Amino acid sequence: MADDDKFKLTQEQRNHIAEFLTQKNARHACPACGTNNWLVGEHVIRGELFTAGTTLLGGPAYPLAFVVCQNCFFVRPHLAIPLGVVAPDPEPPAETKAPTEQVSG
Ligand SMILES: [Zn+2]
Repeated sequence: MADDDKFKLTQEQRNHIAEFLTQKNARHACPACGTNNWLVGEHVIRGELFTAGTTLLGGPAYPLAFVVCQNCFFVRPHLAIPLGVVAPDPEPPAETKAPTEQVSG
């Protein structure tokens, strides 16, 4: 398994996104080139919050699923939480927890 495989959506999740967008009639022609041939992206990407005058690396962000036009590669993001592919309030990764939270013995 490649290192980034653990961050990839499963085929089931990608199918769910495609079905959700079809049900919502959100699979219309590409606004950039006019073709209608979309592919659900393999990952969830970050929509960083805008913070005037500063940059917050690793700060809060919206998780975004996306579809890609297969003709011109225009990217169209959709919020991943209401799509059901990201939990609304995930637990922080174990490596970010304080040492006092670790259980010994
Ligand atoms: Zn296009």
